[in-house]
Amino acid sequence: MTTTVTATKCQWIGEGELCSHTALEGSSYCAEHYARIYQKGTARAKRKKDIRVANTVWDLESEFNAAVQELIEEGYDPADERWDAEVELE
Ligand SMILES: [Zn+2]
Repeated sequence: MTTTVTATKCQWIGEGELCSHTALEGSSYCAEHYARIYQKGTARAKRKKDIRVANTVWDLESEFNAAVQELIEEGYDPADERWDAEVELE
Protein backbone atom coordinates (compact mmCIF):
# COMPACT_ATOMS: atom_id res chain seq x y z
CA MET A 1 0.00 0.00 0.00
CA THR A 2 1.40 3.33 -0.98
CA THR A 3 0.33 6.59 0.50
CA THR A 4 0.79 9.56 -1.70
CA VAL A 5 1.13 12.77 0.23
CA THR A 6 0.23 15.64 -1.99
CA ALA A 7 1.61 18.88 -0.73
CA THR A 8 -1.17 21.39 -1.08
CA LYS A 9 -0.57 25.04 -0.58
CA CYS A 10 -2.42 26.92 2.12
CA GLN A 11 -5.66 28.32 0.71
CA TRP A 12 -5.66 31.30 3.06
CA ILE A 13 -6.77 34.49 1.34
CA GLY A 14 -7.71 36.18 4.59
CA GLU A 15 -6.53 39.77 4.49
CA GLY A 16 -5.77 39.83 0.79
CA GLU A 17 -2.38 38.18 1.26
CA LEU A 18 -1.83 34.74 -0.08
CA CYS A 19 -0.06 32.26 2.15
CA SER A 20 2.99 30.49 0.80
CA HIS A 21 3.04 27.76 3.45
CA THR A 22 2.28 24.15 2.78
CA ALA A 23 -1.16 23.07 3.97
CA LEU A 24 -1.56 20.54 6.75
CA GLU A 25 -2.33 17.01 5.69
CA GLY A 26 -6.08 16.67 5.18
CA SER A 27 -6.58 20.40 5.46
CA SER A 28 -6.61 23.30 3.07
CA TYR A 29 -4.64 25.50 5.41
CA CYS A 30 -1.26 25.63 7.08
CA ALA A 31 -1.05 25.24 10.86
CA GLU A 32 -1.16 28.97 11.54
CA HIS A 33 -4.17 29.70 9.38
CA TYR A 34 -5.98 26.53 10.33
CA ALA A 35 -5.82 27.75 13.94
CA ARG A 36 -7.09 31.18 12.97
CA ILE A 37 -10.05 29.80 11.06
CA TYR A 38 -10.85 27.42 13.87
CA GLN A 39 -10.78 30.25 16.43
CA LYS A 40 -13.04 32.41 14.30
CA GLY A 41 -15.57 29.61 14.06
CA THR A 42 -15.48 29.06 17.80
CA ALA A 43 -15.97 32.75 18.56
CA ARG A 44 -18.95 32.86 16.22
CA ALA A 45 -20.49 29.76 17.76
CA LYS A 46 -19.97 31.22 21.23
CA ARG A 47 -21.68 34.49 20.31
CA LYS A 48 -24.63 32.59 18.86
CA LYS A 49 -24.92 30.69 22.10
CA ASP A 50 -24.82 33.93 24.12
CA ILE A 51 -27.63 35.39 22.02
CA ARG A 52 -29.64 32.22 22.48
CA VAL A 53 -29.15 32.37 26.28
CA ALA A 54 -30.09 36.05 26.31
CA ASN A 55 -33.27 35.32 24.36
CA THR A 56 -34.17 32.53 26.76
CA VAL A 57 -33.67 34.77 29.77
CA TRP A 58 -35.73 37.46 28.09
CA ASP A 59 -38.54 34.98 27.43
CA LEU A 60 -38.42 33.77 31.03
CA GLU A 61 -38.50 37.33 32.30
CA SER A 62 -41.55 38.27 30.25
CA GLU A 63 -43.24 35.02 31.26
CA PHE A 64 -42.43 35.76 34.89
CA ASN A 65 -43.77 39.30 34.59
CA ALA A 66 -46.92 37.99 32.96
CA ALA A 67 -47.39 35.49 35.79
CA VAL A 68 -46.86 38.19 38.42
CA GLN A 69 -49.28 40.46 36.59
CA GLU A 70 -51.85 37.68 36.61
CA LEU A 71 -51.42 37.15 40.36
CA ILE A 72 -51.73 40.88 41.05
CA GLU A 73 -54.93 40.98 39.00
CA GLU A 74 -56.18 38.11 41.18
CA GLY A 75 -55.53 40.25 44.25
CA TYR A 76 -52.18 38.86 45.38
CA ASP A 77 -49.43 41.35 46.18
CA PRO A 78 -46.02 39.65 46.00
CA ALA A 79 -44.19 42.74 47.26
CA ASP A 80 -46.12 42.83 50.55
CA GLU A 81 -44.92 39.52 51.92
CA ARG A 82 -41.29 40.23 51.04
CA TRP A 83 -41.26 43.60 52.82
CA ASP A 84 -43.03 42.21 55.89
CA ALA A 85 -40.12 39.83 56.43
CA GLU A 86 -37.60 42.67 56.32
CA VAL A 87 -39.58 44.93 58.63
CA GLU A 88 -39.48 42.26 61.31
CA LEU A 89 -35.67 42.36 61.37
CA GLU A 90 -35.63 45.95 62.68
ZN1 LIG B 1 -1.34 29.70 5.75
